[in-house]
Amino acid sequence: MFKIRKSDCTHCRLCMLACTAAHEPGLQSVKQARIHIEDDWPEIGGIEVCMACKEQLCIMTCPEDALTWNGHVVLDEDRCIKCHECVGACPYKGIMIHPSSNYPLYCDKCEGQFSCVNVCPTGAIKRR
Ligand code: SF4
Ligand code: SF4
Repeated sequence: MFKIRKSDCTHCRLCMLACTAAHEPGLQSVKQARIHIEDDWPEIGGIEVCMACKEQLCIMTCPEDALTWNGHVVLDEDRCIKCHECVGACPYKGIMIHPSSNYPLYCDKCEGQFSCVNVCPTGAIKRR
């Protein structure tokens, strides 16, 4: 899904802005992004995003069966109790939490548009 080279990342956070804009049009913020640049200045701590792994620990861990797979992880908000067990279960730290709704945020590849990849100026995040 993603190929990541954190040594090429410049911390610009354009990927985070593009992610928010794709999911919440009109909002210019990095807080709602489904991708996160972990800071460990001057080093990049990590480019954290759902890696669509085979183990699917988030789905397996959810006590409410609120998560399913349909080419990407899909959240059923009606079932979700916002316990964040899935967030802790992800080995890639790839699940963010919405700052207002408190629901977990899952990368949906922007319906195949890969908004983050498209804006990354260095190729630190690419499609695989
Ligand atoms: S936060 Fe929601 S989706 Fe995640 S484990 Fe809890 S109930 Fe399941
Ligand atoms: S857009 Fe690319 S270079 Fe900028 S923070 Fe994101 S991954 Fe790093």
